[in-house]
Amino acid sequence: MEKEISGKTRLAGLYALPARHSFSPLMHTTAFQATGVDAIYLSFDIQPERLGESIQAIRDLEMLGINLSMPHKMAAINYVDELSQAARLIGAINTIVNQKGKLIGHNTDGSGCMASLKQNGIEIIGKRMTILGAGGAATAIITQAAIDGVDAIDVFNIKDDFYRKIEPKLAEIAAETDCQIQLHDLADEAQLTASIAASSLLINATNIGMAPDTEQMPLPNTALLRKDLPVFDVIYHPGETKLLKAAKEIGAITVNGLGMLLYQGAAAFKLWTGEEMPVALIQPLLEQEIKK
Ligand code: NDP
Repeated sequence: MEKEISGKTRLAGLYALPARHSFSPLMHTTAFQATGVDAIYLSFDIQPERLGESIQAIRDLEMLGINLSMPHKMAAINYVDELSQAARLIGAINTIVNQKGKLIGHNTDGSGCMASLKQNGIEIIGKRMTILGAGGAATAIITQAAIDGVDAIDVFNIKDDFYRKIEPKLAEIAAETDCQIQLHDLADEAQLTASIAASSLLINATNIGMAPDTEQMPLPNTALLRKDLPVFDVIYHPGETKLLKAAKEIGAITVNGLGMLLYQGAAAFKLWTGEEMPVALIQPLLEQEIKK
């Protein structure tokens, strides 16, 4: 039975700009109804200069918490009381939990990826992986993978200003975990070939292949792929990138970014409510939505 909104109903939501296109309200409202949690979830377009006041409103309105998306993930760190280990290392948060007025910042993007890998039977703990890209999504994945016990991570990015900025961050993550993390130039094909050959998983965490540029691929050639190399792509629009299609054609396990989206939401839901999100109910709803 659907719960009716009452005086006791709590609020959760998304702060982003733009926020209105998000799948999160569908995901969380469905989960609140299914688990009987008396709460609703709304999207809010938040201007950067109002972020501090909007985060203070979480306390004032006794909200359960919020999700954050672009452009607020890094700036929001300045307005919370505490950070999880992953959030501190990543330097960005996508979830705030309101613990009786004390705001805790988390980043569930990386744990969303790790949960999606697990759901697809991909075992990477204690092994080596290669990741293409070193932006927000990549840093979240690298950090969580290192915390969870991935042995070594080869990171490839274009050698631009960003490359030089990310180098000390990766060193900090490696120093705090037992993971060996090496940053390489994406144009270094010999290194890319050697890294992929030694890896048990390839992750694309760049935008390359995302709609509308679906003919692009982040790898210089598909000969680097192999049947026993699972490929995970953070992109979920399209549901099958050119990279995933090529890997699937040679018989590799392929996973798109929809599961990461789902499980980052499930982790936030658990932090707010203590309940498991009914992912089997929500996954098909998300699959329908991305086809629209
Ligand atoms: P960022 O802008 O932070 O990072 C993008 C990364 O891609 C950077 O490493 C960037 O390198 C690299 N890149 C972009 N264009 C090129 C190019 N032409 N050639 C080589 N490298 C390139 O974005 P995010 O990390 O936030 O997002 C990346 C992707 O992940 C997006 O498609 C996004 O939709 C997806 N995503 C999926 C999530 C999920 O839940 N499935 C969650 C979050 C993001 P440089 O900066 O040096 O140019």
